[in-house]
Amino acid sequence: MNIIFIAPPAAGKGTQSIKIKNNYNLEHISTGDLLRIAAEDNTPLGKKIKSMMEKGVLVNDEIIIELLEKKLSSESNYQGFILDGYPRNIKQADYLEALLNKLNKKINYVFYLNADYETLKQRIVGRVVCPACGATYNLLVKEYNPIKEDVCDKCHHSLIKRSDDNENTFKNRYDSYLTNSLPLIEYYKNKNILYEIKGNNANEVYERITNIIDN
Ligand code: ADP
Repeated sequence: MNIIFIAPPAAGKGTQSIKIKNNYNLEHISTGDLLRIAAEDNTPLGKKIKSMMEKGVLVNDEIIIELLEKKLSSESNYQGFILDGYPRNIKQADYLEALLNKLNKKINYVFYLNADYETLKQRIVGRVVCPACGATYNLLVKEYNPIKEDVCDKCHHSLIKRSDDNENTFKNRYDSYLTNSLPLIEYYKNKNILYEIKGNNANEVYERITNIIDN
């Protein structure tokens, strides 16, 4: 079983990916995480990736496609994969389809998550993440505060703020989503694999997703 998410920044695709991969033994492939690792390299390519991410614009298709091809072509013991953050435009979707055809695989579910602009902005501006286990918290929303301000509740690693989680970059990321990624909804609707999931609460969203998969 292979899954894709289409969602604006901070709509919860990372959170849902982690819950789903554990439940169904899927490999979680986050292009954002792959790029954050590549951006740490002190090379011209690493620096270029870092600067594009900090601006909130899409990294070049060629770079992202190469990272993805490596990942999807390597052996895996999982029951399938979740693509979190890919595709982000039609060109990437076409490329994915060609690659999966070659590998004799296909996408089974495309989950479309959404939330309104102000909610997303608040989630981004207050968000802190654990670089070790991927848990996320929000310093502006009491219910999602970590117990100790800078420490992960789950694994006790220090929490960090992503350098692209600020108001300016958020606006660019959101605009990029509207321009580049929204057309993917029609694209996958036409293939009959698109499922729109409504709800603001992570558990409720998760329940709706598992209901679709299990039935
Ligand atoms: P979010 O979806 O919350 O914006 P991600 O971690 O998925 O966060 O992505 C962060 C940044 O990484 C994006 O703003 C973009 O610069 C880059 N990125 C991630 N995935 C892709 C992709 N498929 N194509 C191009 N750029 C990407």
